[in-house]
Amino acid sequence: MVDARKIKENLERVNARVAEAAERGGRLPDQVRLVAVCKYVDAEITKSVVNSGALDIGENRPQQLWQKAEQIKVPSVNWHLIGQLQTNKVKRTLPLITLLHSLDRLKLARVIEQQASQIGVQVDALVQVNVSGDESKSGFQCSEVEYALEQIMECQHIKVKGLMAMAGLDSDVPTTRREFESMRRLQDRLQAKYGDQITLSELSMGMSRDYEMAIEEGATIVRVGSEIFRE
Ligand SMILES: *Cc1c(COP(=O)(O)O)cnc(C)c1O
Repeated sequence: MVDARKIKENLERVNARVAEAAERGGRLPDQVRLVAVCKYVDAEITKSVVNSGALDIGENRPQQLWQKAEQIKVPSVNWHLIGQLQTNKVKRTLPLITLLHSLDRLKLARVIEQQASQIGVQVDALVQVNVSGDESKSGFQCSEVEYALEQIMECQHIKVKGLMAMAGLDSDVPTTRREFESMRRLQDRLQAKYGDQITLSELSMGMSRDYEMAIEEGATIVRVGSEIFRE
């Protein structure tokens, strides 16, 4: 298993690459946030990620997020849910997370709105877009995003901060870049249309294999996992 020293070294390398890619994309390093995806490891190892200075931790399964948030009681940690949220897990998840990256269906928005109003919280969320059109991927199709956003904007306890996407599993490098670029254009278009009501400043895209390219194309948040745990 990868040890704490190696994790720290990997994290430093990823952070340096994030900063360089930000510069290439004409932005400052602190304009791109790294979410360390810890879904592959237990609470113990997640704690060494936190101790190495990563304060944005991503999990793709709600239960795993609950457990770790319970075991790692560091108030400065921001928990990000990046995977699908089942409606029966909304209530327990909402108070724990800083940002929901995977608002991927209107049914979920309705349940979040109902639960959030009950417990009196505001939920920051990203609308997930299935930019590659892969059937296995969740998220709104590009053509549905506008309608979805209008519906979600009606939910007073959900604050949409931007968009989230993953490149297609089978996309080659040029296709991946085009997918990221089209997300950026979608963000710009929606911002122009709805900017008087919401601010879509965040674009969560890019994982271990493509985060540098995602940043060059406009990502403000990257979700990196395996690269941090490489031996
Ligand atoms: C696992 C996961 C990541 C991180 O993937 P790596 O290839 O391990 O960096 C990013 N986003 C989502 C939604 C994931 O499920």
